[in-house]
Amino acid sequence: MVHQYKNNGYNIVLDVNSGSVHVVDDMVYDIIALYEKMPLDTIVEELENKYPENDIREAYSEIEQLKEAGQLFTEDIYENYIDAFKDRPTVVKALCLHIAHDCNLACRYCFAEEGEYHGRRALMSFEVGKKALDFLVANSGSRKNLEVDFFGGEPTMNWEVVKQLVEYGRSIEEANNKKFRFTLTTNGILLNDEILEFANKEMSNIVLSIDGRKEINDLMRPTRNGHGSSYDIIMPKFKKVAESRNQMNYYVRGTFTHNNLDFSKDVLHLADEGFEQISVEPVVAQPTDSYAIREEDIPYLCEQYDMLAKELVKRKKAGNGFNFFHFMIDLNGGPCVAKRLSGCGSGCEYLAVTPWGDFYPCHQFVGNEKFLMGNVDEGITRTDIREEFKNSNVYSKEKCKKCFAKFYCSGGCAANSYNFHGNINDAYDIGCELQRKRIECAIMIKAALAED
Ligand code: SF4
Ligand code: SF4
Repeated sequence: MVHQYKNNGYNIVLDVNSGSVHVVDDMVYDIIALYEKMPLDTIVEELENKYPENDIREAYSEIEQLKEAGQLFTEDIYENYIDAFKDRPTVVKALCLHIAHDCNLACRYCFAEEGEYHGRRALMSFEVGKKALDFLVANSGSRKNLEVDFFGGEPTMNWEVVKQLVEYGRSIEEANNKKFRFTLTTNGILLNDEILEFANKEMSNIVLSIDGRKEINDLMRPTRNGHGSSYDIIMPKFKKVAESRNQMNYYVRGTFTHNNLDFSKDVLHLADEGFEQISVEPVVAQPTDSYAIREEDIPYLCEQYDMLAKELVKRKKAGNGFNFFHFMIDLNGGPCVAKRLSGCGSGCEYLAVTPWGDFYPCHQFVGNEKFLMGNVDEGITRTDIREEFKNSNVYSKEKCKKCFAKFYCSGGCAANSYNFHGNINDAYDIGCELQRKRIECAIMIKAALAED
C-alpha cells in the first residue's frame, strides 16, 4: 500500500508496509500514482504533455529499483504474523491507579465527571494500592520495567498514599528484579514545593493538565466554586515543574474542543510560555455535547495542523523548537511490531484500577460495569474481556486494514470506538481523519528537518 500526498511544498510518498518515506519531484510523484494502474507505455502517453518521454522512462526504472529494494509497493508481512501475535503470553506492563476519585476542578469535558466516575467519590487506600502493585509484579512475567500512573480525579488529593505506594514499590523492586516507572498526572491546583521535590525524585514523568490560552483554559477548566482562574493558579507552578526537570520528562497536556478550533494558538501559547514538551489533543465527547468536535470542523482543524507543522519546522530550524507529541513518530523502525499492531494495550497489558480495587481496561471504561474485569483480590475474573482486547488489532478492524496510518496509529482508541459504535473493533471516524492528518504532518516535518 502506498500513500502519497503534498504538504508544505513537499511531494511525499509513504510505502506503508515497509515504512519507507520518499520525497520526490512532480514527475516521480505522478508516475507513482499511475504505476499500479497501467503499463509503462500507457503512463508515457498519459504524461508526455507534462514531461519528456526519456525522463519518464528513466524515473520509471528508478521506481522499479526501489520496488526491488523493498522500499516501494511492498507486501504486508505483518498480517502473517498476526496469529503468533494473538498467541503471545499475556503480561501486564502498566497500571493506571485511580488514587482519588475526587477533583478540585470542575472541567466540563471530564470523562471522570469531576472525579466521581459515575458515582462514588473515593480515595484509594494504601492496602488497595499495595495489592495492585503486587498484582502487577506477579503478572508481568519477565518484563523488568513496569509503568504505574498516579491518576484521578486528582491524585494530589490523596498524596500521602501516593508517597506510601512509591515507597512500597521501591522496597519490592530488587527482590523481584523489577523497576517501577511512576507517572503523576495532575491539574496543579495543590502542587507545592514538597510535592514537586518528591515528584522530581521519584516520578519518571509528570503530566500537567492545562488547555492553553487563559480564556480557553478557564472556560473548560473552571474552579469548583466558579471563582478565580485555574490558569492563574497553575501556570507559575507548571513553569517551575518544567524548569526543575530541565524541560524533560514532563509534558503539558491539553484538550481542544469545538470552543477552540483554533487550537494551534493554544499550542503556540504554551510554547511561547516556555514549555518544550506539549500535547494538545481533540476532546472525546458524544455528538450531543455542545463542545464536541463535529464533522464540519475537520477541514478547519486540518488547516490548524498544517499551520502548526509549518511553524514547528520554522522554530526547530531557528533553534527554538518544541516537541508536539502528536507530531512525533519514529520512521526508523518505530515501536515493536506488537505495539504497531495493537497500540495502547488497554485491557490486556494496561489496566485501570479504581480506588476500591476493581480492574477496567483503561480509565475511559471505569464505571461501565460491562467492562469490569476483576479486582486486586481475585485478579482478572473476566478473561473474555481481556481476550477481546488482546485480539483487537489493526487487522481485526475493517477500517484500519485499509488505512495508510495503521502502523503509526495502531488501530486507534478502543474507548472512542466503543463510545461511538458500541464495540471496540470499529474506529471513531472524526478522530481518524485528524489522526491521518497528524501523521501526514509528522512525516512532512521529518522531511523538512532532514533537508538541512
Ligand atoms: S486512523 Fe482510524 S482507520 Fe486508521 S488505523 Fe487509526 S483507527 Fe484505524
Ligand atoms: S483505549 Fe483509548 S483512552 Fe484507553 S488507554 Fe487506549 S487510547 Fe487511551
